[in-house]
Amino acid sequence: MLRPATAFTALLAFAVTGTAQTNPNPDLGFKDTPMLPNQKWHVHDPDRPHPAVIKPGATPGAPSSDAVVLFDGKDLSKWGHAGRGGESGKLIDTKWPVHDGYFEVATGSGPLFSRDKFGDIQLHVEWSAPTPVRGNSQGRGNSGILIMGLYEIQVLDVWNNPTYADGGAGAIYGQWPPLVSVPKPPGEWQTYDIVFEAPKWEGDKLAKPAFQTVFWNGVVVHNRKEVMGPMVYRQVAHYTPHEAELPLALQDHNNPVRYRNIWVRRLGTYDQGAK
Ligand code: MG
Repeated sequence: MLRPATAFTALLAFAVTGTAQTNPNPDLGFKDTPMLPNQKWHVHDPDRPHPAVIKPGATPGAPSSDAVVLFDGKDLSKWGHAGRGGESGKLIDTKWPVHDGYFEVATGSGPLFSRDKFGDIQLHVEWSAPTPVRGNSQGRGNSGILIMGLYEIQVLDVWNNPTYADGGAGAIYGQWPPLVSVPKPPGEWQTYDIVFEAPKWEGDKLAKPAFQTVFWNGVVVHNRKEVMGPMVYRQVAHYTPHEAELPLALQDHNNPVRYRNIWVRRLGTYDQGAK
């Protein structure tokens, strides 16, 4: 808490001595306070790096000034499909149709990969399930957000559509159902706000598993939940070593799910300061 009287005292000291005090300005912190446990900083340390100042999005769900915008409603230039044959190892342009402000899964074309690679991130995605409604269970409005191309948060039309719990929308597919199911009807836009901590490796050994925190339509459905491994079907997931950063993927599960307003922020660390 700032103490105006302290600022006044400092000003008075300057007036009396005619020199700036050598102690830090108490408005900006203290050096005579205890050390924080397991940190290199005093409580209210004036030398502690200040965080980067960023500009928030103009409206809820809009990207902040430091976000990497992957789809702003216009084109899919930040995305591509895995090339085959002579184009193996490259990303090729997608034919997924872009309409006014959104795009749609072109069924049978395979997953869409971001051209940028990411590790620890905050991700915002908006999606809507197809209308008219077709199919049942895992065949209705199925897609998915595959972080690092591996770790799926399920996208599914679960509006009046029974399926297995760990395969519903918001599930860490095949591992953990969402804490609660927060669906909107097909055709309405839904939001995922995801915080993903990538797994870390020491050589070939898993040093830290992945963790998922997910808000679905503004409601927390995973709270830093440990992930067992990459998404698999009818099996128990397990980790195998991979790169620290990999592309995001959107799943083509043969249903014309729509997406819009996709942006991502790389998570920094404490005390890194402004760049
Ligand atoms: Mg899926």
